[in-house]
Amino acid sequence: MSLDFAKLPKAVASRLAKLEIRRPYDLVLHLPLRYEDETHLCPIVDAPLGASVMVEGTVQHSEITYRPRRQLVARIEDASGELFVRLLNFYPNQQQQLTEGKRVRLLGEIRRGFFGDEMVHPRIRAITEGAPLAEALTPVYPTVAGLAQPTLRKLIGQALRDCSLHDTLPEHLLRDLGLPDFASAVDLLHHPTPDITPASLTQRVHPAWMRLKFDELLAQQLSMRLAYRARRGQTAPVISPPGTLAKRLIDALPFGLTDAQLRSLIEIRRDLASPHPMQRLLQGDVGAGKTIVVTLAALDAIEAGYQVALMAPTEILAEQHYRKLAEWLAPLGIDVAWVAGSLRARDKAAAIARVESGEARLVVGTHALFQDSVVFERLGLAIVDEQHRFGVHQRLALRQKGADGGGEPHLLMMSATPIPRTLAMSFYADLDVSIIDQLPPGRTPIKTRLVQDGRREEMVEWVRKVCGEGRQAYWVCPLIEESEVLELQTAIDTHANLSEQLPEFKVGLVHGRLKPAEKAEIMAAFVANDIQVLVATTVIEVGVDVPNATLMVIEHAERMGLAQLHQLRGRVGRGALESSCVLLYTAPLGETAKERLKVIYETTDGFVIAREDLRIRGPGEFLGARQSGVPMLRFADPERDVDLLERARDIAVSLIEHAPAVVDAHLARWMGGREVLLKT
Ligand code: ADP
Ligand code: MG
Repeated sequence: MSLDFAKLPKAVASRLAKLEIRRPYDLVLHLPLRYEDETHLCPIVDAPLGASVMVEGTVQHSEITYRPRRQLVARIEDASGELFVRLLNFYPNQQQQLTEGKRVRLLGEIRRGFFGDEMVHPRIRAITEGAPLAEALTPVYPTVAGLAQPTLRKLIGQALRDCSLHDTLPEHLLRDLGLPDFASAVDLLHHPTPDITPASLTQRVHPAWMRLKFDELLAQQLSMRLAYRARRGQTAPVISPPGTLAKRLIDALPFGLTDAQLRSLIEIRRDLASPHPMQRLLQGDVGAGKTIVVTLAALDAIEAGYQVALMAPTEILAEQHYRKLAEWLAPLGIDVAWVAGSLRARDKAAAIARVESGEARLVVGTHALFQDSVVFERLGLAIVDEQHRFGVHQRLALRQKGADGGGEPHLLMMSATPIPRTLAMSFYADLDVSIIDQLPPGRTPIKTRLVQDGRREEMVEWVRKVCGEGRQAYWVCPLIEESEVLELQTAIDTHANLSEQLPEFKVGLVHGRLKPAEKAEIMAAFVANDIQVLVATTVIEVGVDVPNATLMVIEHAERMGLAQLHQLRGRVGRGALESSCVLLYTAPLGETAKERLKVIYETTDGFVIAREDLRIRGPGEFLGARQSGVPMLRFADPERDVDLLERARDIAVSLIEHAPAVVDAHLARWMGGREVLLKT
């Protein structure tokens, strides 16, 4: 009887769905977390402490005791010795299994208990003497509440019999890679023989694991390369003007571009000049100067007769861009429009009309730009800041606003989250990447100080001193993940206190609950130095650029993640003035917090910080990639499996070129329809 998902009981199907298991093949690829060894019995006296073992014996005694709480305690004996079994919660059938005289097999860890050696909550199996032992290790699968291991095992067993496990990869390739064939790898992982070292399985270094990890990485590379190629197959406007506008802006700038900025600009220009849509990510640490680079690209597009859209994930960030770009572009006679949710309906309609008529050549905004009511006269380039915050669907919506008839717009994304090379290779395989790996010269490094929060008053004095010298300061309120209300209240209190303590200065407050227009107003006052001290929740995380602000105090820094601290700190040290960042923390610190603060204290290099962040958090959380639609890796780890990753990347390129049938078969097995999200 073969496995039909449609006929599974609803409860089972919905629990499987929680595990992302929707077809028989997903069961095949649902691999064990660990194994239990029921292939041999261990005499009780020989059983090592603290390791999982199976013992067999007869129940000598069994009773329910009430001290310190209700529990079932049974004494089991084999030829070599005895041990106690303790169950704090138990069902009648377990009590039944543990009645005097019954024979049981117990699987669990033995530890030293008060009365002697004991197993707490072992797996208990009633047996008759001489019952056969298992021939393979027993898999333990990742599962969810209500889906028991035996059910999963049965379903997986069925799926392994039903599904074709033919190899998707040619034999010679496997031979070159030194990897086993698919069927035997899968079979081994589900039912390993007892001679295999369990560690090679749980640590995923056994060749069978390597095969599955390779397959997974290959599927990821194939789907992303294909998505990339599909988009390259579209047409886009050829943008290759003399560059007069860009040159005029460069000449007007008070600084020269760094080599890294120039290199990135050259790469972008090469893409713009090609008749296919650019799909490039511009990466650069906080303060590396991405904005001017994308602005110069925008000027090329405008000079070539196209419109440009620039989007940012928050209104604060978008407004900052708008101000900066309007300031740079106004002298060149270019009309820049501002479209945001907070605009009065009439102003917004007017701005949208200017975009539609083509009067506005550049439009800056938030997600509001995705709205259907925004029609471009001739969109040639879309720029997206902090792209990882945008969902795939939003990006898609924007690209569909194509330069009518002329094809799709070019797409340029910016990100201040430096991605270690291995991750970029894996997760950004569908993008071209330019990196600004150099800060503009003349920046004085930020001094970072770790200060216990008992010395808060001293920090207030420091703020007084800095503002007294004509500078400005940020005071960042603690992140309170559990309660937005409490977080807001803390910010309001902090603002009240600082206003009282620093009466000679104007203290402002921004937080996430303000209306965008209110936020914008406060930010504008801070930019103009009408506000000297800005109390903020973490909303100022990205993009705020006020070079005159030279001090930042971050309260409860121990609660924040590395990337967040790095982004926050990047708000100071944006000019030639010496800047400081004070990380106030409350002792005692947990291990992770200690590690994070040490990293942020020791370095300001975004790449080093990203690497450490990745190490501390693992790639899934680090990227937050699920929402951005990149297929997550379940088995492989791009850092640890970098060798496999590199080979998968190279082989993906050559398979796409030379063996499309292999590509199709492999993707069908691994992606099973999930690759649609990538078709952006
Ligand atoms: P980010 O990469 O974080 O977006 P910005 O583009 O906001 O950085 O640039 C940070 C600051 O550095 C801005 O004030 C910008 O005008 C300035 N800047 C950019 N490039 C240079 C350069 N080559 N030399 C000096 N200052 C620069
Ligand atoms: Mg920026």
